[in-house]
Amino acid sequence: MSKVQNYVFDNSNSSYTNLKPVPVSAVKLTEGFWSDRLRVNTEVTVPYEFGMIRDDLFDKFRRAATLKSSGLGTENEDTPAPGRRAREANLHRWLEAASFTLAGQHNAELQGQVDEAIDLILPVQEDDGYLHVNLASKAMRNLRWKDARLNELYASGHMIQAAIAHHRNTGESRYLDSAIRVADHIYDVFGAGTHQHDPSHPVVEMALIELYRATGDSKYFDLACYFIDHAGFEDMKEIAGHSVQITFLLCAAIDAYCESGRQSYLDASTRLWNDMTNHKMYVTGAIGGRQVGEAMGQEYELPHEHGYAETCAAIGSAMWNWRALQIDGESKYADQMELCWFNSIMCGVNLAGDKFFYDNPHSSCGHAYFDPWLGNEIRDGQDYESYRKWVGAPTRQEWFWVDRDTPRYPYRVACCPPNLVRTIAQLPAYFYSSSDDGIWVHMYGGSQLDWNLRDGSAVQISQATNYPWDGEIVIEIDSQSPIEFTLHLRIPGWARSAVVEVDGDKIDAAPGRYLHLHRVWNPGAKVRLTLPMPVEYLVADSMVAEARDSIAVKRGPIVYAFEGIDNPDATVRRAAVPASGNPSDVLSEYKADLLDGVVSVEVPALTPAEGEKPLYRTVDLPESPHAETSLKGVPFFSWDNRGETEMTVWLRRHR
Ligand SMILES: [Zn+2]
Repeated sequence: MSKVQNYVFDNSNSSYTNLKPVPVSAVKLTEGFWSDRLRVNTEVTVPYEFGMIRDDLFDKFRRAATLKSSGLGTENEDTPAPGRRAREANLHRWLEAASFTLAGQHNAELQGQVDEAIDLILPVQEDDGYLHVNLASKAMRNLRWKDARLNELYASGHMIQAAIAHHRNTGESRYLDSAIRVADHIYDVFGAGTHQHDPSHPVVEMALIELYRATGDSKYFDLACYFIDHAGFEDMKEIAGHSVQITFLLCAAIDAYCESGRQSYLDASTRLWNDMTNHKMYVTGAIGGRQVGEAMGQEYELPHEHGYAETCAAIGSAMWNWRALQIDGESKYADQMELCWFNSIMCGVNLAGDKFFYDNPHSSCGHAYFDPWLGNEIRDGQDYESYRKWVGAPTRQEWFWVDRDTPRYPYRVACCPPNLVRTIAQLPAYFYSSSDDGIWVHMYGGSQLDWNLRDGSAVQISQATNYPWDGEIVIEIDSQSPIEFTLHLRIPGWARSAVVEVDGDKIDAAPGRYLHLHRVWNPGAKVRLTLPMPVEYLVADSMVAEARDSIAVKRGPIVYAFEGIDNPDATVRRAAVPASGNPSDVLSEYKADLLDGVVSVEVPALTPAEGEKPLYRTVDLPESPHAETSLKGVPFFSWDNRGETEMTVWLRRHR
């Protein structure tokens, strides 16, 4: 097997993208925020999730292999309820994470776990290529693809993606060979147009396009487009439906555009992106506010405490924005991607790396809320600790189980933890791209790129910075000899007054675009980028009901949250920022011993006297007297790491 690069997605030969990928192995995260997060992912989350998925699925695969060899006609465990059959996708996603993790280290234990998992999967595959752990017997053939909509194609898509990742990272091919047989089988079933199920949880589409890129076989691309078209994608007027499903479909549509130049795909993507960013997105980049249907909801439907904002949807948005960025280097997509990474994605996992949010509230009362209607279903003797798993405790969970015999969290699919672990494992590839004329820097953080220009000449680019806690970034360019190319530096949209200094020459850099620095770079040349990070107050469109007359606090790319634990003398959801308050009055300070090291903020505020208040009063009656105070805030991603506590992102403005 020839040497392959471990690209996350390989658009290096795509005709309709000016930016080209760099492999994960070409980027080393050296120090600082992202290096720390990747280290926790590698050292804690990857092994932790292996244990959870092993306990959930390995016996199931063993039974399936036995069933398959025996030909018995008993369905393997579980009823075919929606969500249950999707669980095997977790194993594939973990394998995707583990494969990228293995590329950066020699780890015999992890290698053994990967081999063990693949050894369990492969024997379940039927002679015709079909592979699904629940229907592993020939006698079950009549049930095949009955549940394609939510489960079989979904799991198959994740298998194809993981198998490509495994091949690209290890050079091995047995998992990929099996996935190709799965894809060929899907083509045989769906490609002829005889099977009319559309895969309403997209993922197989982008998996098939990646398989086309990996193998060169255009039938996989054609099948992906068949599925995209069958979903009615091109006609969508607004971004709607299940928030993860729509972003995964949009990823596939951009992938398809990259390969084919089909303009209607790009037009639809642009239309839906504008709708999302103008109407349907939280200030953290999170999307999908509506609990029912895990859906995007209507315009401005962005509830805070009871909003949904699934972690997977933020990941899906970042994946979509990343793909759109590759077309022509439009910085709005990189800004959006960064917003998600620092806020709505990293909120999904605790700092220790072993607890996860499925939905991400932007306000919390700090404890599970008792719903007497749901309470009818509580069994006798169930205590609060059990009950809170039913109704949604506002804290990260160790996993999202599907076991019907124990009290359970409402979500029966543990999709977010393995989606997080694989995406963080791929993070280095999000930092840089190449193009015909040079190198693009998208993300800032201590890192080193060791790659080459399109003409093959080697170049190293390193970043030294404490970003996102300060905006000073020193970029050093190294090569064997002077080298001519364009360094495309992202100037974030929030970075007003950014300054770039190249070998002592200062250059003003407009925010919200890439600065294109074309030079002959001498070995050791340095670029200093200064992105001022004053604290900003943000206000929402007045149609966002729960954010009316409120402000959110942002500094650089980081959105803040205010927790009860830091503000014991105030009810943070009731406290208010004075109408005359100015963000320049806010203190911000880096605290190395707080939450693994963060910049915290202190916002001058007013807190009303405690005590019972009327729910409604006539406007001539004054509010209870307010006392001056200050509210301490921490980055939104880091909330809920010190116990269950009240929290709000938005602070009321006192009139
Ligand atoms: Zn999820």
